[in-house]
Amino acid sequence: MGWFGQPGNPGINEGLGRYLAHSTLRASVATSRWGALVIITSSLAGSWLVIFMAGGADSMVPHLYYVPILFAAARFGPVAALVVACIAGILAGPLTYVDVAQATTQDPARWLTRTGYFIGIGQLMAWLVGPSLIPITEEIRRLRKEREIRKGLANGEFFLQYQPVYSLADDSYPVVEALIRWQHPVQGHQSPAGFMATAEECHLIHEITDFVLDEACRQASQWRKLAWARNQTPWAVAVNISGRNLELPDLATRVRKTLERHDLPPELLHIEVTESALALENSAFQLRQLKKLGICLAIDDFGTGYSSLSYLNRFPADTLKIDRSLIATLSPDKSSQALARGMILLARSMGMTTVAEGIENGTQLKVGRALEFDYAQGYHLSRPMDAGDIPAFLLADELPPEQSEKRDRL
Ligand code: C2E
Ligand code: MG
Ligand code: MG
Repeated sequence: MGWFGQPGNPGINEGLGRYLAHSTLRASVATSRWGALVIITSSLAGSWLVIFMAGGADSMVPHLYYVPILFAAARFGPVAALVVACIAGILAGPLTYVDVAQATTQDPARWLTRTGYFIGIGQLMAWLVGPSLIPITEEIRRLRKEREIRKGLANGEFFLQYQPVYSLADDSYPVVEALIRWQHPVQGHQSPAGFMATAEECHLIHEITDFVLDEACRQASQWRKLAWARNQTPWAVAVNISGRNLELPDLATRVRKTLERHDLPPELLHIEVTESALALENSAFQLRQLKKLGICLAIDDFGTGYSSLSYLNRFPADTLKIDRSLIATLSPDKSSQALARGMILLARSMGMTTVAEGIENGTQLKVGRALEFDYAQGYHLSRPMDAGDIPAFLLADELPPEQSEKRDRL
């Protein structure tokens, strides 16, 4: 529905008024703090100068002062409106002659009454726009972030780190999970929690996934050659995709083309989707298309959402990754293990392997082993690391001494 006098909508004037109010508010909120201070100061000074040049308070009504007062109210709220209204009251009162030529001062009752009007109107404005400020501020913050992400993608500020996934059965690291990072030029290193939600709200999540897929496949293909040269089994790379990516009708085609571009066999690519994405319409079809390519599919963060068993039945997943919130509750006490044991049995009965996510200490690893998880992942085994550090960690003959020791202890 448009705003301009359509059935059930406010009339054209009201609609236009609301539009103008909204855009003015957006413009004022979008102005930076320093920019807003410059606007307020210069319009206070400008108002004083114009009235002085016009000949004094008797020659011109001081309505110009409402501009900085209303702006301060919209941009900063009631306290700023009060301060600016008082400054305007003084500028338009004791500091402005009634008649500049004759240097006659104003009657205090007159300028005090005017200051009262300034304060009243400023407070009214702040009160009226206050409730709209929060959503508009949020919207502007999101738009700014969106712009920064787009710029970051264009400037190559995003990169991947990789966290090895440990096989409890054969003491190896057959998979590394690609995790996106952002080296923000001002805010520094940012993890996905700082930008994925914004990227998911707009189409940028598709560009991010394209980047991650491409870079992870390129890297995996390079590692594959390296592993071959050392006569070792190449490791697979796991890529996280967002639920929003499942809306892309050509997702499977994009993945296939990326594999072809980097000459990577599909079995060396794993794709992880969170449990919550499975509830989306069309996700079963999309995942089946991906599965047809020959890649491995994993359900990520299982145990945080609805943990619906019917989802598991509908999706052609190979692996179930049990969320670290559940792993954190594991202790040698049998009662703490019941849920995890149930999930492992369920996954196994459906032909899926299981990963214990977020293993942070030796006790959790021991319990995970006793419960017969197939794989484990977590800081205790290895933190996410730069691509350049992965071969040294995974190619046994190149293991640095402290990592060899750690592996011996597992
Ligand atoms: P995830 O896919 O479950 O990835 C594991 C997250 O847990 C990573 O956080 C990893 O650094 C962290 N982690 C691993 N071991 C431990 C541990 O022992 N303790 C604790 N406390 N944390 C551990 P990160 O990199 O911040 O990623 C968070 C989430 O962001 C990921 O969860 C994934 O859902 C999403 N994500 C990361 N990279 C991408 C990406 O390229 N694309 C998409 N769509 N999502 C991504
Ligand atoms: Mg994951
Ligand atoms: Mg996870």
